[in-house]
Formats: sequence, C-alpha cells, structure tokens
Amino acid sequence: MADRTTAQAPETVHAGGEWSAAGSGATREIIDPADGRPFAVVAEGDDKDTDLAVAAARHAFDTGDWPRTPAAERAALLRRVADLLVRDRERLGLLESRDAGKTLEEGRVDIDCVADAFRYFADLVAGEAPGRVVDAGTADVHSVVVHEPVGVCALITPWNYPLLQASWKIAPALAAGNTFVVKPSEITPLTTVALIALLAEAGLPAGVANIVTGPGHTVGARLAEHPDVDLVSFTGGLVSGVKVAQAAAPTVKKVALELGGKNPNVVFADACATADGFDTAVDQALNAAFIHSGQVCSAGSRLIVEESVRDRFVAELARRAERIRLGRGTEDGVECGPLVSEQQRAKVEVYVESALAEGAVLRSGGKRPQPTDTRPATGYFYEPTVLDCCHREMKVVREEVFGPVLTVETFRTEDEAVALANDTEYGLAGAVWTADAGRARRVAGRLRHGTVWINDFHPYLPQAEWGGFGKSGVGRELGPAGLAEYRETKHVYQNLAPKPVRWFAG
Ligand code: NAD
Repeated sequence: MADRTTAQAPETVHAGGEWSAAGSGATREIIDPADGRPFAVVAEGDDKDTDLAVAAARHAFDTGDWPRTPAAERAALLRRVADLLVRDRERLGLLESRDAGKTLEEGRVDIDCVADAFRYFADLVAGEAPGRVVDAGTADVHSVVVHEPVGVCALITPWNYPLLQASWKIAPALAAGNTFVVKPSEITPLTTVALIALLAEAGLPAGVANIVTGPGHTVGARLAEHPDVDLVSFTGGLVSGVKVAQAAAPTVKKVALELGGKNPNVVFADACATADGFDTAVDQALNAAFIHSGQVCSAGSRLIVEESVRDRFVAELARRAERIRLGRGTEDGVECGPLVSEQQRAKVEVYVESALAEGAVLRSGGKRPQPTDTRPATGYFYEPTVLDCCHREMKVVREEVFGPVLTVETFRTEDEAVALANDTEYGLAGAVWTADAGRARRVAGRLRHGTVWINDFHPYLPQAEWGGFGKSGVGRELGPAGLAEYRETKHVYQNLAPKPVRWFAG
C-alpha cells in the first residue's frame, strides 16, 4: 500500500483484478491538512480509466460466479474482510486521521464501525430465507418473490468519513451479489484503496471490486451517466447530488443519494433543571457541533434552545468551545483536527463573515487559531465558533456550513421549537433534549428528519436505516433497506398444471 501511493506512477486504479497507474499517467498529491504538505500520491484517473473499470465490473457480473455465489459464502467473505480490518485497524486509522484531518482515536473508531458494517450485512444475508412464497389462491400455482443483485454499482463517496461511507455501500453491494466500481473523494482516497486490496486478500474474485481514483467531474460524472452501470449510490453535497441524478436519468439507472443536512439540536429548559442535566446537554451540544470540526453530515449545527435558559446555556457552551484543543490529529490530547482543505476553511470563513454582517453575535472562535508547533500556520485550522442571536433568514442558518460553526436560535413554546427545527430544506437528523417523556415523544414524532435522537446526539446503529427527508437525499443506507437498495425484486410464478385459457376462440 505504501509503495502504491508513493511511487512516481502510483498504482491506485484497480480494474479486473489488476492494479495500474492512470492511463494518462496523471497523478495527484494527497495533502495532510494539519500542515498543508503532500504525504502520498495517487493516480488521477479519467473517463477512459472509468470505462475500463466499468467493463471489468460488467464482465465479472455477466460471466463470473459472484452474483450466483450462495449467500452463506458471500457472508463468510464479508466476515473475513471484517477480521482483516480489525487486524489493520491501527494502520488504517492512522491513514484516515492524516488524510481527513480527524483525531487518531476518531480514525480508529471509524475503522471499528467499518468492520461492524461488514459484519452486519454478512449476518443479514446469511440469515435470510431464499424467497417469499406468495399464496396465489390455488394449489396449482407456486409463486415466489426472490431478490437478485442489481448488477454493476457505481459508488461515489465524500471526504469526511472516507472509509465509513464507502463501507455502507460496498458491504451491502457485495452481500447482495453485485459487482462495483468505487470512486472515493479525490481529497481522501487512501483508505478506500487499502480496502480494495483487503477485499482481494479476503478472496473476492477479480473484477468484482474495482476502484478509480480521480475527480468528480470526470470519473464521477462518467460513472453516473455510464450505460453499463445499473445503479449509482452517491454520498456528498446537494449540488453534486443533483448533477449525479441528472446524469443518471437518461439511462434510468437506480439512484441513491445521501446528501447534506442542517440539523437542529432542540434543548428544552427542563433538560437543564439539574446540574447533571445541564452539564450533559451542554457537553452533547459541543459534541453535536464540533466533532471532526463540524465536518459531519449530521452535525448539530443549529442549537434551538428555550429562551429561559439561553443565556446560561450559551455562556457555558462558549466557555467550553474556547477550551477545545486544536492540533494535528495524531498528537496526544488533541480534541479537534484541522478542516480538510484550504478551500473548505475559506468557505467557513465566508459563512461566519456573512453571519456577523447579518447581525449574529460572536460568542467564541470566529478566526484561525494562533499557530503552534503542533498547529503550524500552514495547517487548515479554524476555531470552534458559537454564533448567538441567529434567525432563520440568515444564510448561515439555512445552508450547510460543514465546519466548526454553531448557530443559536431561541423559542418559547413547543410548537415554536418544532416549527424552527423543521424549517430547513434538508431533513437528515435532529435531536430533542427534555426531561418530559411525553414531550420527547411528541416532538420526535413531529420532526421531519431521517434520524431523531432523544437526549443524545450522533449515535447510529448498523441495524437501523440512515438517510434523509427532503433534500437530504433519496433512499436509505444501513438496516434492511440499505441492503434492499442493492437488489432487484423478481416474482417467479409457476403454473403447476398448465392448460389452455381459450381467450381466443381459434
Ligand atoms: P462533494 O459533493 O463535493 O463530493 C462527493 C463525491 O462526489 C466526491 O467523490 C466527488 O469527487 C464526487 N463528485 C463531485 N462532483 C461530481 C459530479 N458532477 N458527478 C459525480 N461525482 C461527483 O461532497 P464532499 O465535499 O466530498 O462531502 C461533503 C458533503 O457530503 C456534505 O454535504 C455532507 O453533508 C455530505 N455527506 C452526507 C452524508 C450522509 O450520510 N447523508 C455522509 C457524509 C457526507
């Protein structure tokens, strides 16, 4: 792996079981966001490399054994992959930390979650009945509904959770018997390249798993439009997601979109009535907004707090936000790494400037931190930022910032809280904090978001579907629905006693 990404002509394109450089010979440097310096090189694939990878996946699907391999054998392979991920946890966690700028501990946890995804989908298919017998109303008919793989899947992933997002697609795609071409984010491709090598080590036949490293506008766009691709599953931003859906439409391929979020964290005063309750709600609001420097699709970037506790809550939140230790993710004691790129930080800075111009009040952060030995001026760091006195007309409240920026809005009544929380074009996730069990259930029931947490923020379960309402996407990942995305449904109707129907007299 190290050789593959440090050589002059890095071989990170994998098609039909062979590793190669980009056909054009083009390369891309992979930057460590903690210091802005390159630390790896990958192939910069293009549409020709993409066509070769799709052809390999098509050939493996149409002529290979994988789609017809019994579910128990596919499950066994997925479990071997999970074991290899555990074996390589330290190496992969470190790679993820350097590539995406997250803390080493977050990188390790990501790899654990990736292994969990492989195990979950292995268990799901291994335990399934082969089909659902349908009662046709007569003993002369045997009718059964079966599931089959969709075919060649194009899997396009973002940079914030590079391997985790890839695993939520690759594990169910393989469990269902598909072949695929994955295109990781051009900013953070390294762990996905490593996973493809692990799949081969686990015994996956050549051509089933293929990867093209390269940009979205060439490799991603070609995958989305390709006539030999049967399904495209995309995780990323709203603008790119719309382009993918448009490119996919003429070939009527299946499309799954996991897009952004603008996620409300609703705090009722009763959740803060005790010292422990207050401490927990503040702690979790910090976690919601600032983990991975807020570069999380489900980040709780909108704090919607009951007016009577707002001053105390925001003061404590800002005090603790100022104390978050920023630095290189591999340094001991660091709690937040840099943003992923110079471009991403510049985008965050523009949002904060616009918020202040629109009347927001800065309670913490709002600038780049002072450089230190572990936080060089060349790194893309930005301080955790709390913006008070925000309202729903502000750009920073309506749009996904994808950085360490928390906006504060207030409410007086339950209805007002729900209206604010639902006032977004997105609908990925949201939370409600309250000591009143009835209110918790009422509010959770009214929130128009794909995941709702009650007195918690961020946990997800591989067994439970993940995805969004509104412009947060189409389809679901994880859970049984996350497997169903990768399947066609077929009804096989067998007449056990055929005879003429005599519809036509002659
Ligand atoms: P992005 O849209 O810029 O890129 C995502 C992927 O799409 C990359 O691999 C990119 O190269 C590719 N791409 C870009 N343009 C394309 C095109 N025209 N055709 C095909 N592919 C194209 O997103 P990003 O900046 O990498 O990731 C951040 C976004 O991802 C945020 O909006 C975040 O909310 C979202 N996200 C959502 C989830 C979820 O589960 N809903 C999870 C993680 C991230």
